[in-house]
Amino acid sequence: MNNTPNNHLNFLPNQYRETGKLNINHNYLDRQFSDYPEILKKIEGLVQRGDFTLGEEVDRFERRFAEMAGTPYAIGVGSGTDALFLSLKALGIKEGDEVITTPFTFFATIGAIVTAGARPVFADVGKDYNLDPSKIESKITSKTKAILPVHWSGLICDMFEINAIAKKHGLYVVEDSCHAINATYKGQRAGSFGDLAGFSMHPLKNLNIWGDGGVITTRSKDLYEKLSLMRNHGLASRDVCEVFSYNSRLDTLQAIVANHLLNKIETITNGRIANSNRFDEKLRGIPQLNIPTRNPDKKHVYHLYMFGAEDRDGLKAHLIKNGIDAKVHYPIPMHLQPAAKDWGYRKGDFPIAEGVANSVISLPVHEFITEAEQDIVVDSIRRYYS
Ligand SMILES: *Cc1c(COP(=O)(O)O)cnc(C)c1O
Repeated sequence: MNNTPNNHLNFLPNQYRETGKLNINHNYLDRQFSDYPEILKKIEGLVQRGDFTLGEEVDRFERRFAEMAGTPYAIGVGSGTDALFLSLKALGIKEGDEVITTPFTFFATIGAIVTAGARPVFADVGKDYNLDPSKIESKITSKTKAILPVHWSGLICDMFEINAIAKKHGLYVVEDSCHAINATYKGQRAGSFGDLAGFSMHPLKNLNIWGDGGVITTRSKDLYEKLSLMRNHGLASRDVCEVFSYNSRLDTLQAIVANHLLNKIETITNGRIANSNRFDEKLRGIPQLNIPTRNPDKKHVYHLYMFGAEDRDGLKAHLIKNGIDAKVHYPIPMHLQPAAKDWGYRKGDFPIAEGVANSVISLPVHEFITEAEQDIVVDSIRRYYS
């Protein structure tokens, strides 16, 4: 049977198939969902009830997620991208506005700003790969409405500094927390620093479901009520529309999967942290690698375990040849993407971000990676440089 899709833009299944040939993988979904019959049983109940949109499962998930994020409110939406896009819309961000963000992120951060009608304005990152607060103020203009920091790889940005800048200039803050479920900074949770925050539950994120889903968190009752309307056609009731809007509900079926996974989020997080700490220990002695300094005030949840490496592309090819799924997240920063050509940015505009994009490599650190597998990875890296 030929499972290849006809449309070349339908390429995602190939990514899963390719990495499936390696021995030590980023993808672990078979093990993550080895208890899937339990989930299917709950879904069977849903099919019998016919309760496919919103309803009790979504409500329960939102309450539990809000508790985890340390915010009074959470709103389940269709994806992490929608979470960011709807957040910007709810704050009234529109055509002609500017949003300051990082050039070193996943495309969706920028896509959300652009689809909200605004213009992304980049500021460089620091050595921790996150938006550098000291680079923000020079980018503020009369059009700036918000700062959108990304907690890259699951490490919370310097939010106390960023919030202080936002307050001084009357700007909103929207956190891209898509990598940062369960992360903390001085004990405070990702998603509780900004006016709003967006989370993703994409299959390869730390809290992952069987397709797309996202969450918005907030401490504002007004924004909670507004966004609860906005993700459901703006409907106050069956017959009354408060504001013409979108349909971006978290699927009830996916809320069942999310509720199931939420029971395991501590295990998932702790497994990633333990594996990353072990890599830190074993890799720090290799002079060709640049392992970031860790901030003891920040609980980094390692959606990605990444570091700088000399001759990165050579190392990556060597690891893949040895069955290890090394990846680069991501080799081309946002301001140098073809999609950014109209904004007039050039190579050299953000030297730190560009240097990071040219040198970083990511290793699998999910909770199913074993010590023995980590030793194989470390040996393989050592052999490459010797
Ligand atoms: C995954 C991701 C998103 C978007 O999430 P989706 O659920 O895939 O739409 C946004 N920002 C970052 C940094 C991400 O990694």
